Amino acid sequence: MAVSDHVDIEKFMEGVKKRNPGQTEFIQAVQEVAQDIFEFIDDKEEYHEAQILRRIAEPDRVVSFRVCWEDDNHNIRVQRGWRVQNNNAIGPYKGGIRFHSSVNESVLKFLAFEQTFKNSLTGLPMGGGKGGSNFNPKGKSDSEVMRFCQSFMTELYRHIGPDTDVPAGDIGVGGREIGYMFGQYKRITNRWEGVLTGKAIEYGGSQMRPEATGYGAVYFLRNMLNHKDDGIEGKTAVISGSGNVATHAAEMMTKLGGKVVTLSDSDGFIHDPDGIDQDKIDWVKDLKNNRRGRISEYADEFSNATFYEGERPWHVECDLALPCATQNELNEDEAKALVDNGCIAVSEGANMPTTLDGVKVFHDAKIMYGPGKAANAGGVAVSGLEMSQNAERISWNQDRLGDMLTELMEGIHGKCVEYGDQGEGYVDYVKGANIAGFKKVADAMLAFGVV
Ligand code: NDP
Repeated sequence: MAVSDHVDIEKFMEGVKKRNPGQTEFIQAVQEVAQDIFEFIDDKEEYHEAQILRRIAEPDRVVSFRVCWEDDNHNIRVQRGWRVQNNNAIGPYKGGIRFHSSVNESVLKFLAFEQTFKNSLTGLPMGGGKGGSNFNPKGKSDSEVMRFCQSFMTELYRHIGPDTDVPAGDIGVGGREIGYMFGQYKRITNRWEGVLTGKAIEYGGSQMRPEATGYGAVYFLRNMLNHKDDGIEGKTAVISGSGNVATHAAEMMTKLGGKVVTLSDSDGFIHDPDGIDQDKIDWVKDLKNNRRGRISEYADEFSNATFYEGERPWHVECDLALPCATQNELNEDEAKALVDNGCIAVSEGANMPTTLDGVKVFHDAKIMYGPGKAANAGGVAVSGLEMSQNAERISWNQDRLGDMLTELMEGIHGKCVEYGDQGEGYVDYVKGANIAGFKKVADAMLAFGVV
C-alpha cells in the first residue's frame, strides 16, 4: 500500500465541510473528534495510510424515505424518515430513533457518528447508527402516533434486523412508540426477534433500560468526583429536560444525596429551591409519560417553584450540572455562568448538549466535564445487554443489571482516564473518550482491509 501524505486537520475539515454542505451539527461533531484523533495518530502511519477517520466520518449508508399517514381528521400527512448506518466494524449498527420537528439528515448523521465512538467505549460489540423522522408526536392522539409508527416501520423493517441494525428510543420515542414499531415489524416479518431495544418487560425488554441513561450519567459524575476524592452527597444540581434521561438522572442524584433544583422542556425551566425529591419526580414522570403535559404545570402544583418561560437553567447557582434535553442547549455564555457560579462538574445525559465554545470554557476552567458519548453511554450499554438477553431467550433481574450498569460506567470512566489524563489531577474526558472509542473501531477496520 502506498504511503500517503499526511492530511492536516484543516485540510481534513475543509473536505468534510465540502462533502456535507450545510450540515452544521454533523460538521461540529466531526470537528470535536478530529482534534483529538489527529494528535493521537500523528505518529501512527497505519491509521493515516488506511484513511480511518475519513472512513468513519462517511456513513456506510444513509437511507431516506417517505412516511405517509392519515391524521384523525382524515388529512394525508407526509413526513420524511431516515436511518443512518454509520459504521458496523465492531458489531451490528445500534442507535436510537428520534421523532422531533428538528430532525434532519445533519442531526442524524452527527448522532450516528457520535454513537460509533460511544458504543465502542462500552466494550460491547455494537456499531453506530441513528434514525428518526421530522414527525412531532406532541399533541397527536395515540391512534395518530400508532398509524405514523406503523407507516415508518413499513419501510424501516427492510433495513434492520437483530444481526444488522438494532434501533432503540430517543427524543420523542419512548415505550409507546417502541411498542407500535415492534408490533408492526413482527406483523410484517412474522418473526419475534430482538430487533428493537427499549421494549417493555412483557415482550422482551430489559430491566433497568428506562433508567440506564440517566442513572449512568450520574454514576459517571460520581466516578469523576471520586477520582478527585469528592462525592455527590450534599451537592446541588441543575438538570435540563424532563424526559426519560432527565427524570432518571434526577432520581439517582436524589438517591445519592444530591439536591436537584431545576428541570426544563422546550418551553422553559422550573426552579424549585426546596429540591425536587422522589415524590415530585414521580409527579413529573406521570405528567410527561401519562398526561403528556408541560413542565410549566410543575409551578402550579408546587407553590415554592417558579417557571421561567423561554429560558434555560444554566444561570441557577449549583455545584453540578446535567444537561439532559437536546443538542446545543448550553452555549459559551451559559458555560461561563456555570463556572462563575461555582459549578465543579458537568455530566452530559444528552448528546452534544454543549456547543464547542461552551466546551472550551469548561476545559479552560479545568472543571470536570464528562461528554455525552461517555457519560450517557449507560443507555446503549443496557440496550446491548437487552440484545444478549433476547438472543439467549432469558431475562436477568434488576439487581444483576444494576450491578452491570455500575461496572460498565466504571469501565468507561477508566478508559477516559487512561487516554485523557493530563497530569496534575486533570483529566480531559473528551480526549479520553474520543481516543478510546476510536482505537477499537480503527483497529477492527485495519483488520478488514479496504472495504
Ligand atoms: P425525551 O423525549 O424523553 O425527553 C426530551 C426532553 O428534552 C423533553 O423534556 C423535551 O422537551 C426536551 N427537549 C427536546 N428538544 C428540545 C429543544 N429543542 N429545546 C429544549 N428542550 C428540548 O428524550 P430522552 O430523555 O430520551 O433524550 C434526551 C437526550 O438524551 C437526547 O439528547 C438524547 O439523544 C439523549 N440520549 C437518550 C438516551 C435514551 O436512552 N433515551 C440514550 C443516550 C442519549 P419537550 O417535551 O418540550 O420537547
